[in-house]
Amino acid sequence: SGNKRICKSAPNTSKLILTRQFACHPFHFSYFIPLLLATVLWTSARREIRERPGGFTIVVVRQPGASNRANRLKMAMAEHDPKEFGVEDLVLLTTIDTKNIVENLKLRFQKSRIYTYIGEVLVSVNPYRQLPIYEKDTIEKYKGRELYERPPHIFAIADAAWRTCRNYSRDTVIIISGESGAGKTEASKIIMRYLAAITNVQQQHEIERVKNILLQSNCILEAFGNAKTTRNDNSSRFGKYMDINFNFKGDPVGGHISNYLLEKSRVVRQQQGERNFHSFYQLLAGCDDGHLRQMHLSRDPARYFYLNQGQSHKVDSINDAQDFKAVQSALRFIQTFDQQAVDGIWRVVAAIVHLGNLQFNPINHNEESEVADKEALRAVAELLDVDAGALAASLCSRVVAARGDVVNKQHNVNDALFGRDALAKSVYERLFTWIVQRVNDAIRVENSARRGKNTVIGVLDIYGFEIFGTNSLEQLCINYCNEKLQQLFIELVLKQEQEEYKREGIVWQQIDYFNNKIICDLIEEPRKGIIGILDEACSTVGPITDAVFLDEMDKKLSGHKHYTSRKLATTDKSLNFGENFRIRHYAGEVTYSVAGFLDKNTDTLFQDFKRLLYNSKNKLIASLFPDGAKSVTEVNKRPLTAGTLFKNSMLALVENLASKEPFYVRCIKPNETKSSSGFDVERVTHQVSYLGLCENVRVRRAGFAYRMAYPRFLLRYKLLSKKTWPNYRQGSERDGCEVILRECGLFDDCVFGRTKVFIRSPQTVFRLEELRTAKI
Ligand code: ADP
Ligand code: MG
Repeated sequence: SGNKRICKSAPNTSKLILTRQFACHPFHFSYFIPLLLATVLWTSARREIRERPGGFTIVVVRQPGASNRANRLKMAMAEHDPKEFGVEDLVLLTTIDTKNIVENLKLRFQKSRIYTYIGEVLVSVNPYRQLPIYEKDTIEKYKGRELYERPPHIFAIADAAWRTCRNYSRDTVIIISGESGAGKTEASKIIMRYLAAITNVQQQHEIERVKNILLQSNCILEAFGNAKTTRNDNSSRFGKYMDINFNFKGDPVGGHISNYLLEKSRVVRQQQGERNFHSFYQLLAGCDDGHLRQMHLSRDPARYFYLNQGQSHKVDSINDAQDFKAVQSALRFIQTFDQQAVDGIWRVVAAIVHLGNLQFNPINHNEESEVADKEALRAVAELLDVDAGALAASLCSRVVAARGDVVNKQHNVNDALFGRDALAKSVYERLFTWIVQRVNDAIRVENSARRGKNTVIGVLDIYGFEIFGTNSLEQLCINYCNEKLQQLFIELVLKQEQEEYKREGIVWQQIDYFNNKIICDLIEEPRKGIIGILDEACSTVGPITDAVFLDEMDKKLSGHKHYTSRKLATTDKSLNFGENFRIRHYAGEVTYSVAGFLDKNTDTLFQDFKRLLYNSKNKLIASLFPDGAKSVTEVNKRPLTAGTLFKNSMLALVENLASKEPFYVRCIKPNETKSSSGFDVERVTHQVSYLGLCENVRVRRAGFAYRMAYPRFLLRYKLLSKKTWPNYRQGSERDGCEVILRECGLFDDCVFGRTKVFIRSPQTVFRLEELRTAKI
């Protein structure tokens, strides 16, 4: 029936496929024909298999009539007709400029071809609808194939990463970038599903378990780390880097997730049209009545201050109740969450919901305050398993160390609200990290699996470049992260290119591109950069304001090409941006408001809260606050600031990424309206520019538009010369390629490397293709 495999004696990958025509009764004489054929083919293939371990397929196909074959080929060519569908690799564009790149992407987008290559970089345009291109048959089409063998697809990138891991024991990483809503998270999930689909053919229990956890962890992390924003109904509000460990057979044996900077301010504040993290709404919509009552909650999010500020708690594309069930079942599936832990998680979420409704009354001319709503207070205390009186005391006052003494400082209403919000943010952030750690515990690579060959595929899905109406320290961090990744991209893509030329023994000339190192330095340079100046301001004793910090920056950064602020921009009156400063990022100008920078950077949670929760009777909550063991006098005066912590985590991330072989997926958002047909040329042009796609194509084409390994070139174009058709026997494959290029009069445009022929102008490639089509 259909294709039937009759021989699978090669290690793992090599296979011989027999078509319907030969599938017949075992005693029929024709049964022996394929066997005979198989033996002949197998003998001649062995040499090849030895030289190319892991990538070999012999397909014996029915030989149709010649005209039939020509028709099929024509149809296949038509499928790839650049006039109709645009070029599959932007390197093949006749003129390289942003306009042509955008036009090409638009043409392909309209024909549902959302993927396009730049060499080995994949450009992906969000289709905003389900396309039938991720099913089993497509997986089969890409499995074990080289990038160029099939039309551009994210499966091809995943497969290339996997084969690099398995065949060459090299660690790889797939770096997915693009702005919010461009399709990064979807891309990372598609990659994981593909890797899960092609591995563990023997259905081993342990590997199946790991695979399932890797897949199921997505829905948990999205529940607690994603939220509806104005730009994306399911926007990731944290950065995620996931390592998947593979054994020598290429099966996943474990993994590790690192989470970066959760946007915790969302727990207490949401802008119009946005929501808090999904988990809150899931709990209210999906939890059964009994448990909800136990947690003193109502189903209506509108009743809770932390949940309804954006006034859009109902989202059409989201079914919170159903998602709650999925999260519950995923939590149960992962053994490191026992029932107590699962209950504990939701109790913390419920406590935060109540905390948001806590108000304070001023007393003693608002020098002091008291909790206004005792019922909410009791609910929070009960859910956090702490004493209500102690909770009220921590909310309305704090212990401060003054010259060796400890004194009780009462809070006014504002301070109390500040403390309440800080508590909510901190509890949620720590809960999130705790959840990630539990997932990691469940997929930690066992010692036994560590032995022997063990390689890693990393998948990075991290927040894209962001410009909001008001941009604060969070946006600065996120945009800084994107600067770092862009820097890495430049270095790696150029480096890879240079190395290839070196390997092939070819002289290469440098091409110009914008190096954004200057902007990375502006932000990260010790002491002189923005984070350094901010830290200095935060460590200054005495009252220091955000405005003073701005003055300091103006003093130290005036004259920097990428920094400006109102005071410095005296010549340009249009730059009226108050207590703000502006950075010219590689992806565009962003105006940051300094308001709140100092507070966010010091990220204070009063020690009283830490101590209170450390003493909670609930083990999960107590374990979130190990630093609560210290008394106020023992507390380290200067813990690392939020800015510095973030900077350090970025430096470590970049170092990690740079140590692996990278594959890039550059995601593009086609429109602002989540429409499946709209292609906003202006918006896409902007993204194409700042993603540096044009430079990418130019670098790729610098000197050489195209390169092809000799055997592949010969195979594709051997029909262009009588000397090479059907087989070339006079010399090496390299010689064969030379014969073809000379006969076509294209020799002068090519350079011969050690294993590949390099073609300078795309016209030569077009000409070769034309000649080939004419022959067919
Ligand atoms: P990002 O992570 O870049 O912010 P997402 O991956 O969350 O963006 O994508 C936003 C939305 O776009 C998704 O919720 C989904 O509806 C749609 N989308 C993205 N990529 C695809 C895809 N390949 N196929 C279908 N829909 C997609
Ligand atoms: Mg995302």
